Amino acid sequence: MATDKKKDIRALSIENLRQFFVDHGDKAFRGNQVYQWLWQKGIHDFDGMTNLSIATRSLLKDYFVINHINIDHQQKSSDGTLKNAVKLHDGLVVESVLIPTASRTTACVSSQVGCSLDCHFCATAKIKRMRNLNADEIYDQVVAMNQQSKYYYERSLSNIVFMGMGEPLMNYNNLIKTIDKITQPEGLGMSPSRITVSTSGIPKMIRKMADDQVRFGLAVSLHSARQNVRAEIMPFSDKFPLEELADAIQYWYEKTSQMVTYEYVVWKGINDKNEDIDALVDFCKKTPCKVNLITYNPIGEDKFLQAAPDRISAYEVALTENRITATVRRSRGKDIDAACGQLANKAKV
Ligand code: SAH
Repeated sequence: MATDKKKDIRALSIENLRQFFVDHGDKAFRGNQVYQWLWQKGIHDFDGMTNLSIATRSLLKDYFVINHINIDHQQKSSDGTLKNAVKLHDGLVVESVLIPTASRTTACVSSQVGCSLDCHFCATAKIKRMRNLNADEIYDQVVAMNQQSKYYYERSLSNIVFMGMGEPLMNYNNLIKTIDKITQPEGLGMSPSRITVSTSGIPKMIRKMADDQVRFGLAVSLHSARQNVRAEIMPFSDKFPLEELADAIQYWYEKTSQMVTYEYVVWKGINDKNEDIDALVDFCKKTPCKVNLITYNPIGEDKFLQAAPDRISAYEVALTENRITATVRRSRGKDIDAACGQLANKAKV
């Protein structure tokens, strides 16, 4: 007998599916057939599983539902950036962004509905965390953008960044399950070196990733190397002093031999003084790293204004003089609120 509340069949592993059929007096390989329909053919209803008998399809309907995302609508920026409003099975909406350049197509993926953290400069933080995305919902965003990339730009995705809505390390298990699926040959077969996870900096979880020997890249949203300044603009970081963060990053480097990338926005009157620059240089000397100086994308907060160009250059010069790689990153998709920190379901909320 089916239970009252039907389960999402996509939460089952291939082994679970095989066992389900054995438990119901059928052959284990039916599980493989269903798995293929779900994951290779991307079928969203049981009646589409045409190599199963009507009785088998109806057994599945008794026990399961197929939850999946729907791209509700798309917006295209003048620079080619494509923003998707992604509707989840329970009606909540997240956003994902496809960013083409001459040589790459990057998918920027969301990991939570809203965000658990409270960075004052980020639009997503204004929406409280409503729930974590499950691994399938994250994976589906990638698959949908891979199709869009092929359709619009005639090539597959080259890179994936977990820089959409949410804090990926607060949804760690689903993040890892998703990346496993993206990198497995029966998934998208993508190299982990083309994937970057961006975190606002949770030391315990950075250590956990290092212990797990993950092979994707790590970016940390630093924005200030001065404890009081950082805690002012990213209040949650009060609990995670910079020293603890630096130690975790050092541990990451020792375990994975991978350089971390720091993301850094320079704001007028907040972190554009020489002492801010000196603090960043000192911080960067602790562990091999790169710095991305990113443009601020306004979210309607008066106290945050992009610093003057000469202050950003001062950062670049100081870092370069100290042999720290620094790049000034242009922002994409601003005209459709698709740039970093602007994802807040404007179309819906
Ligand atoms: N929670 C993760 C990933 C999502 S944010 C993190 O904090 O890293 C992705 C990047 O956008 C982060 O570096 C974040 O600090 C940055 N960001 C947030 N709001 C921004 C804004 N308004 N302008 C520019 N970058 C912003």
